[in-house]
Amino acid sequence: MEKKKIVLTGERPTGPLHIGHYVGSLKSRVKLQNEGDYDEMYLFAADAQALTDNFDNPKKVRDNIFEVALDNLACGIDPEKVNYFIQSEVPELTELTFYYMNLVTVARLHRNPTVKEEIKLRGFEESIPAGFFTYPVSQTADITAFKATVIPVGDDQLPMIEQAREIVRKFNSIYGETLVEPVAMLPSNENEKRLVGTDGNAKMSKSIGNCIYLKDSAEEIKRKVFAMYTDPNHIRVEDKGQVEGNVVFTYLDTFCKEDSFEKYLPEYKNLDELKDHYRRGGLGDMKIKRFLNDILQEELKPIRERREELAKNPEYVYNVLKEGTKKARAKAKETLEEVKRAMQINYFEDDALLKEVEEKYSLK
Ligand code: ATP
Ligand code: MG
Repeated sequence: MEKKKIVLTGERPTGPLHIGHYVGSLKSRVKLQNEGDYDEMYLFAADAQALTDNFDNPKKVRDNIFEVALDNLACGIDPEKVNYFIQSEVPELTELTFYYMNLVTVARLHRNPTVKEEIKLRGFEESIPAGFFTYPVSQTADITAFKATVIPVGDDQLPMIEQAREIVRKFNSIYGETLVEPVAMLPSNENEKRLVGTDGNAKMSKSIGNCIYLKDSAEEIKRKVFAMYTDPNHIRVEDKGQVEGNVVFTYLDTFCKEDSFEKYLPEYKNLDELKDHYRRGGLGDMKIKRFLNDILQEELKPIRERREELAKNPEYVYNVLKEGTKKARAKAKETLEEVKRAMQINYFEDDALLKEVEEKYSLK
């Protein structure tokens, strides 16, 4: 039997989604959905995971489930095709996490580069919540519960997928072939794998606050673009400028379309010409920022307008999540049963167990 193509993605409801999510994951999940090249597709709000470092602020997580759902639906997620669920409403995931916990060592979790980075970012030092420290294990449960094969993510998630693959292999080698190894699907463009923040920080992240959000108004987008980090040595228009590490150019590389120059900056043919001029000197930051602003406004306007429409109908949005959760739960339950069978902890469904005991005590 050919292996099924099962897609799973999600995000932590810790804030509305930004253009980093959009290029890193949202765009590819919508593309996959529309191309129809999959057997099953799951999307989820990782609220239980978000609580591992926001346990003292449950309202933030609760409120952002709606925000993140709006972002996904506004970007074109179709609930007829995608089962969109809430993580904590699928308790089977917690149960799987508990069993997987035995298949990974504390030392291995310590070595996870993303977890390391995030611990530093959050200033946990020695007081890391155990739940946060072990979230890669819970992420393995999220992936394997649906037998997901393809995970569209930004490159910060690669260590998580690797961890999941290791746990799957270990599980299968101890308990027999049960779980499926996932692969990460990364965007092809380097910038999209990890979009930098507007401040030049290595990653645009809700937790850092260097984001352009999909819900930002036209004025907010403009303000953020005009405050963007460029080349600190490029002070006067005639100064030579640096393109590398210049956020405006990174975003132009990411968002510029074939017809962008014709529409908004016809005096240049393409990005190479613009870059050359900037390097030579004589091209001011205002001009490139105005150009980027036009491009971003065009890309984000239809998303924002759909989002505003959807926000008027919260009942519809919660219903999407409710229905998606029902379907996801049924699938996770099936997998959990298989896992428990493989681990021989399916006592009440196991006829062999009774026989074994009867034989041992020579009852038959
Ligand atoms: P948090 O700071 O709460 O962790 P986040 O902004 O990192 O939030 P996540 O919910 O952790 O967002 O990530 C969801 C998905 O979006 C992941 O697949 C991640 O790789 C991708 N992603 C997040 N930020 C970026 C980015 N700047 N560039 C590309 N992809 C990103
Ligand atoms: Mg993150």
